[in-house]
Amino acid sequence: ESSPAAAAPLAFKVNSKNVQYTDSHIVADYHYENATVTKGVDGSYNVNPTSIKYQFKTEAKVPRVGLMMVGWGGNNGSTLTASIIANRRKLTWNTKEGVQEPNYFGSVVQASTLKLGVDVKGNDVYIPFNDILPMVHPNDLVLGGWDISGMNLADSMTRAKVLDYDLQRQVKAEMETLKPLASVYYPDFIAANQSDRADNVIPGSDKQAHVDHIRADIRNFKAANHLDKVIVIWTANTERFSSLIDGVNDTADNLLKSVKESHEEVSPSTVFAIASILENTPFINGSPQNTFVPGCVELAERHAVYIGGDDFKSGQTKVKSVIVDFLVNAGIKPVSIASYNHLGNNDGKNLSAPQQFRSKEISKSNVVDDMVAANHLLYKKDEHPDHLVVIKYIPAVGDSKRALDEYVSEIFMGGRNTISMYNTCEDSLLASPLILDLVILTELMTRIEYKTEDMAEYAPFNSVLSILSYMLKAPMVPHGTQVVNALAKQRTAMENIFRACVGLPPQNDMLLEAKTQ
Ligand code: NAD
Repeated sequence: ESSPAAAAPLAFKVNSKNVQYTDSHIVADYHYENATVTKGVDGSYNVNPTSIKYQFKTEAKVPRVGLMMVGWGGNNGSTLTASIIANRRKLTWNTKEGVQEPNYFGSVVQASTLKLGVDVKGNDVYIPFNDILPMVHPNDLVLGGWDISGMNLADSMTRAKVLDYDLQRQVKAEMETLKPLASVYYPDFIAANQSDRADNVIPGSDKQAHVDHIRADIRNFKAANHLDKVIVIWTANTERFSSLIDGVNDTADNLLKSVKESHEEVSPSTVFAIASILENTPFINGSPQNTFVPGCVELAERHAVYIGGDDFKSGQTKVKSVIVDFLVNAGIKPVSIASYNHLGNNDGKNLSAPQQFRSKEISKSNVVDDMVAANHLLYKKDEHPDHLVVIKYIPAVGDSKRALDEYVSEIFMGGRNTISMYNTCEDSLLASPLILDLVILTELMTRIEYKTEDMAEYAPFNSVLSILSYMLKAPMVPHGTQVVNALAKQRTAMENIFRACVGLPPQNDMLLEAKTQ
C-alpha cells in the first residue's frame, strides 16, 4: 500500500505547439486575454485589449491523499464515509423503489462533464470533468478525522438517520472500526445544546498544546497511512464569529502569540487551521464562521499553504446564485428575496442558538451583491433587494431540510413577478459530494504552478483558493479582489482555468461553425 499509484494514462492529448507532455508534467503556454477600461473626459470608455503570456505546469502523477474531517462523526462526515465505502465495494442495497447502486451524483468533479471540442460532424464531444487533468478518485482517499463525540462511525451513521437501512447494515462492520480522534472543544463557540455530545475532547485549556496536538495527529495519520498529502476540512458545528481584535488576530504573529497565551477569541476551527497550515496541509472551512481571521490568512500566505472557505453551498444559496443571476441578466429587477428554512438534524439544533444562527445568516446574506452591482441600469449605487433569511429547528424532519423562497421582481412598466420555490432533500446528501469536490480540486491545485514572462521561477497560486467558489456560500478571495457569487461564472472559471492548463482556449458557446454555413 505504501507506493502511490503510477501516473495513469491521460484521457486525451492536445496536439499543439503550446503544450508539452514530459514524463512528469503537462506544460502549457497560454495567452490570457482581457481588457483594461478607462473613462475619458467626455464620459466615454477607452478599452485597451491586454494579453498576458502565462505558462502552467501540472504534475501529472496523482499522489496518495488523506482526507481528515473535523466533525467526522457528524451527519456529513458519517454519510460521506459510508458512501465512499459503498462506492469502493460496489455495494447495492434494497429500497422501496428497488435495488440502488452507489454513485457520486452531486459532485461536479465525479458526475458532470466538460465539452472538449467538436467531432468531424460538428457534434460536441464531452469528457468527464475529472478527465480534464489527472485528479484523485474519491474511492482512493484515505479517511480520518476528529470529533468531540467519541462514537464510532457506524453509530454516528445510525444517529444521522440519512442513509437507507439496508446500506447501513452492509457498511456497519467496517464503519465500526473507524473512531474519530479526540478534538478541541471550547464550549463558548458552539451552541450550549451540543455539550452532551462532547465526550471525546483533548484535555486542558492550553491552546498552544492543542495546536501541537493537532499537528501531531496530522503527521501521525500521514505516516501511518503512507500518504503523500493530507487535506483537512472543517465539517464540524457552526461556531460563533470570533471578535476581530487588533493585536490578537489581526496579523500572523499576533495570532500565534494569542495561541501561546490561550486567548479566548481563538476558536477551535482557527486552532485547526493554524495546525494544518503549519503542517503544510491545505485547510478548507465548510461552515460559515470567520475561522480565517486576518492573521490566519497571513499565516497561510507566509507558508504558501492553500486555504478555502467559507460554508458549503449546497441548496438554497446555490439556487439563489442561479435565479438572481438569471433575473438580473434578463433585465428583471429582484426587489425582495425571502428565504425560510427548517431542518431537524444536529446542524439545525446548533443553529437554533442565536450566535450560531448569526454566523449562518451572514454567510447567506451577501450572495446577490455582485450580481446586483453588475447592473447599474436596474439598481442605483448601493441599492439592494430586501433580503431576509430565517432558519428554524424542527426535529421531526430530521436531515430532510426544507427551504422556501420567494422572489419578487419588478418587470416591464411597473409590473410585478413573484417566483415561489419549495425545496426538500437530505442536507447531508447535498453536502457530502461538495466535500469531495473541495478536496479533489484543492489537491489538484497543489500540483499546478504558473509563471508569467517576468517571473524567473514557477509559483503556486494565491493561498486563498477562490477557484473553489462554486462549492462555497461565502467564497473567500484574495485580499482586494472581487467576489463572484454567480454560479455559472464560478463554474466557467474552474473549467477555463483547467483548460488553460492543457493549452486550450476558454470555452465559448459561439458555435460559429454551425452559424456560418
Ligand atoms: P452535524 O452537527 O451532524 O456534525 C457536526 C459534527 O461536528 C458533530 O458530530 C459534532 O460532534 C462535531 N463537532 C462539533 N464541534 C467540534 C470540534 N470542535 N471538533 C470536532 N468535532 C466537532 O452537522 P452536519 O450536518 O454534518 O454539518 C456540518 C457543518 O457543515 C455544519 O456547520 C453545517 O452548518 C455545515 N454545512 C452543512 C451543509 C449541509 O447541507 N449539510 C451546508 C452548508 C454548511
